[in-house]
Amino acid sequence: MKKENVILSCYSLLRRETPLSFDCGKICKSSCCNGDSNTGMLLFPGEENLIDKEITIKETANGDKIAVCSGTCDRNKRPLSCRIYPLFPLIIEENGKESIKAVKDFRAVCPLVNGEYEYNKSFLRKLKRVGKFLMLNEETKAFYVSLCEDYNEHIELLKLFQKNF
Ligand code: SF4
Ligand code: SF4
Repeated sequence: MKKENVILSCYSLLRRETPLSFDCGKICKSSCCNGDSNTGMLLFPGEENLIDKEITIKETANGDKIAVCSGTCDRNKRPLSCRIYPLFPLIIEENGKESIKAVKDFRAVCPLVNGEYEYNKSFLRKLKRVGKFLMLNEETKAFYVSLCEDYNEHIELLKLFQKNF
């Protein structure tokens, strides 16, 4: 599948989904949409031409592309990172079989990550399907797998830190 089609399929899956059954922006005054001009959401390969044209695309020191917005956007054209936030579809291995688990992204600055909230089951289900779609193109797959590796490395570091302090 072409990478743009992978992304459009993921967009479509999460078009109407939200993490909770109510607008979680009410908890935090939509803090995740109120970053500054140096804060952005990571773009997946193929997203550059699909997101809202009002969003600025910047490149980080390591060559990743990030979307920097002014705090509002066309919801139908918001980046995938905004749609999955504050969770992440992590590839895991269980009993020798690969599967995808929706996990809290501990890097997210979001009250949902530390609080005990009940996530929408449908959001969790769709998130896993997003993970499967991302595997359907070599470029999106490689990018996604490296994000999973980053996630696991950070978790290991966090465990080490907690053990020593
Ligand atoms: S995802 Fe988190 S930070 Fe963003 S609006 Fe919801 S509660 Fe706030
Ligand atoms: S691109 Fe849209 S959804 Fe994403 S942070 Fe900006 S305003 Fe929020």
